[in-house]
Amino acid sequence: MKNNSGFNSKCVHAGTAMQKETNAANTPIVASTAFRYLDTQMQYPRMFNLVNQMAVANKIAAIEYAETGLIFSSGMGVISAVLMTFLKPGDELVIQSNIYGGTYMFIHGELNKIGVTLKVFPTEIDVNIEDYITPKTKMVYIETPANPLLDIVDIEKITSVCKAHNLLSVIDNTFASPYCQNPINLGVDLVMHSGTKYLAGHSDVMFGAVVGTHELIEKIRPTAMAYGSVLDAKAASDAEKSIKTLGLRMKKHTENAQEIAEILSKHPKVNKVFYPGLPNHKGHDVAKKQMRAYGAIVSFELHDSVNAVDFQKNLEFIMPSVSLGGVESLITSPFLTSHKFVSPEDRQKMGISNQMLRLSVGIEEVEDIMFDINQAIEKLSK
Ligand code: PLP
Repeated sequence: MKNNSGFNSKCVHAGTAMQKETNAANTPIVASTAFRYLDTQMQYPRMFNLVNQMAVANKIAAIEYAETGLIFSSGMGVISAVLMTFLKPGDELVIQSNIYGGTYMFIHGELNKIGVTLKVFPTEIDVNIEDYITPKTKMVYIETPANPLLDIVDIEKITSVCKAHNLLSVIDNTFASPYCQNPINLGVDLVMHSGTKYLAGHSDVMFGAVVGTHELIEKIRPTAMAYGSVLDAKAASDAEKSIKTLGLRMKKHTENAQEIAEILSKHPKVNKVFYPGLPNHKGHDVAKKQMRAYGAIVSFELHDSVNAVDFQKNLEFIMPSVSLGGVESLITSPFLTSHKFVSPEDRQKMGISNQMLRLSVGIEEVEDIMFDINQAIEKLSK
């Protein structure tokens, strides 16, 4: 598959490992943990080199403009392996304030234990990360758009500072997906995904991925093998199939999200809407520069007259769930889930009220999603 093929073509074809014996259109599921090592490159599932694992890694690498990649059994499997590969006691990590809760817990628990120190910068478009770099800094870690207010940071501005100081830049690109944003083209060294979200896309497979240069990925492999978060062949095959329709799903997800964000902005029972595709979102101009589409997560704050928890109980098909990125619309209260362990004072400072909801907009029709939202509001207004 040529490097400049279209997004959907790469989603369908890149990485597929054809088999001479079967001439099958799909990568066959190789359900084996033992391989003849004398004749071929040594293989073992925990070496991250099974044909089904590599098919997925190569597909994601192609749609992220990377040389190669590794896939794992979860997003946290990737994040922990990447952080533990490149950080050692005494090193400093420069990281944005709003990051995924599991990453926050890993950094404050595990990295802290081995003596890696942190410098946290505000998740803002005009932040100057030079101010946070010290002689001990080794890595800069970003996530944009960030959970749950869809804060945006300027990727190119950050990677240019990283290059000037010879620092490794790492991004969690889960919320955007490769359809909306390709950070490698903006100078990022390593791009990570919780594949559990948009890449898998049907709320049925858990996996993670990291892509980058051959040199960096081969540095991660031994750490990944030591921690052992491997994906089995069947789950890898499910992931491979899912990514074939990523472009189609994301087109509908993002069009729906834009429309719903606009409708909710004018809704009498909604105080605020957070979506990078809205011109009044503080990250809109930077998002426009670095994203192809604005993603499909829309956060909004309900009016005090509509209790946000009761509202979720009244929904008919939009499912209250901590996950996101499935074809079905999913909704969550950050104060009960991702930000449960953040103090109410800190949540207030972050702008996350108990009335705030994060909607992962699915691929259903906009009229139906809005009908469900409106009927749940109306039940409480009576
Ligand atoms: N990164 C982000 C932005 C996430 O939302 C999540 C999970 O919600 C993760 C990483 C972790 O991924 P996983 O749950 O697949 O381990």
